[in-house]
Amino acid sequence: MGGASPPDGPQGPTDFGSANRGNEILAQPTTPVRPQPTPDPELAAPAEARPDGWRAALRDAVRDPAELCRLLGLEETLAGPLAERGAAAAAGFPLLAPRSYIDRMRPGDPNDPLLRQVLPLGEETDIVEGFAADPVGDSAAELTPGLLQKYEGRALLVTTGACAVHCRYCFRRHFPYGLAPKGVEAWRPALEAIAADDSIHEAILSGGDPLTLVDATLAELAARLAAIPHLKRLRIHTRLPIVLPERVTDAMLGWLTGSRLAPVVVLHANHANELAGAAVEAIVRLRSAGVLLLNQSVLLRGVNDTADAQAALCERLVEVGVTPYYLHQLDRVAGAAHFEVPVERGRAIVAELRRRLPGYLIPKYVQEIAGEPHKTVLT
Ligand SMILES: *Cc1c(COP(=O)(O)O)cnc(C)c1O
Ligand code: SF4
Repeated sequence: MGGASPPDGPQGPTDFGSANRGNEILAQPTTPVRPQPTPDPELAAPAEARPDGWRAALRDAVRDPAELCRLLGLEETLAGPLAERGAAAAAGFPLLAPRSYIDRMRPGDPNDPLLRQVLPLGEETDIVEGFAADPVGDSAAELTPGLLQKYEGRALLVTTGACAVHCRYCFRRHFPYGLAPKGVEAWRPALEAIAADDSIHEAILSGGDPLTLVDATLAELAARLAAIPHLKRLRIHTRLPIVLPERVTDAMLGWLTGSRLAPVVVLHANHANELAGAAVEAIVRLRSAGVLLLNQSVLLRGVNDTADAQAALCERLVEVGVTPYYLHQLDRVAGAAHFEVPVERGRAIVAELRRRLPGYLIPKYVQEIAGEPHKTVLT
């Protein structure tokens, strides 16, 4: 990430970017500055160097399964099955994968653990008993539009239905996000409900992915939350630092760490291969800003359902400064049955992790059971 300064602006290691684009301080001391030959710095700068470069990267994400297969040299292996039933799977919940995430997949490997998380497959159209549209009772936990409270002391704001990646196993794939409030004013009832209940100490921004919203909106929301005296923590549930690392801008760090609320970010990485390249830089930036970083993952067949894969993930997380928090048993959402790992097998994997790793590297293996006062620990 080089500085996105105008041609006549400051250059070199101390380039802090142009003042006319807000408070972005993107230059890192060791980053070489690219020459900017054209007169328009917005066009000349690499996409990730601009404060809103993440939006361009999101627009540029791959949405066509055939293109994804082409990029990975998998036309031969995957084109047939995809053309048949994969297209039907993609119709309800389309493919969405940022290019920087695809860059971390192994070319030529149809079983790549990152590819499997995003590629629509025919199995999704199978109807399997016990797999339902709202397996975790979100609809019942809704206090006001977009505000869920299942657990004491914490309230969860569904800020948006949008994500930067469509994870095929996602339990929210059928949630009626069209109904989530669309802007700060629309969140007024949710904010009032939080303000009226002084037992709530933590606001969780979730979704979808809250970081798909622009920083101006999130800064306004964070400020309104910080004005509620009994709130102590602001927690963000996001996969963007992993799948769209460009999103960790200085403006984002500004509103996240700039209030009296203690900032907590719960990331979502399922495999060690996701923790590479720019994602690591994004994590380091979050850490350096003083954010408590945790990770939740989902136990997924064919992705991370071995002790080796889990141990590698946990060790890699801690290597980059993230504490493993939860390993979720898959929620039984319609379309995701082929990802399910039996609980007994999950328990055996976690038992093996306990043998191999220090205690602080072991995530809690949990399941969300509708109506329970907390997530249920399975071991
Ligand atoms: C998972 C979840 C939380 C957070 O639970 P923690 O155990 O504190 O991580 C809060 N609200 C809802 C609705 C949730 O699903
Ligand atoms: S990023 Fe999270 S909410 Fe979005 S599709 Fe993936 S698992 Fe679901």
